[in-house]
Amino acid sequence: MPDTRSCLFCQIARGEIPAKIVVNNKEMIAFRDINPQAPTHILIVPKKHIGSLDDLTDSDLVGRMMTLAAALARQEGIAKTGYRTVINTGKDGGQSVDHLHVHLLGGRHMTWPPG
Ligand code: 5GP
Ligand code: ZN
Repeated sequence: MPDTRSCLFCQIARGEIPAKIVVNNKEMIAFRDINPQAPTHILIVPKKHIGSLDDLTDSDLVGRMMTLAAALARQEGIAKTGYRTVINTGKDGGQSVDHLHVHLLGGRHMTWPPG
């Protein structure tokens, strides 16, 4: 069983660690990344602890996370210029917090391929 007490994003979802929250509903929380890589950098996080995409069983959940990311992009005024959504998974994927999240990045031109 994962230790949700010490999980950073579970702690943010419970309000135990402060964050710049942009959405807080029954299922999800979205907040600004502490180390932004673009003018807009928001993390979309399910409140339920799911370690990574590799642990996902509820496929509809990721659809709802992406739908929220798109809504936030419109709210941030970056939908027209474009943006990037990213899920890092595991060591090679560059995941550093073991709680599923989508990065929403925009407000500057993104390069490809990513590093
Ligand atoms: P990952 O590397 O797992 O895909 O993304 C984790 C993200 O969480 C990183 O972009 C990192 O900057 C962000 N992060 C780490 N600790 C904190 C924190 O305490 N507060 C916030 N708001 N973001 C954090
Ligand atoms: Zn967690």
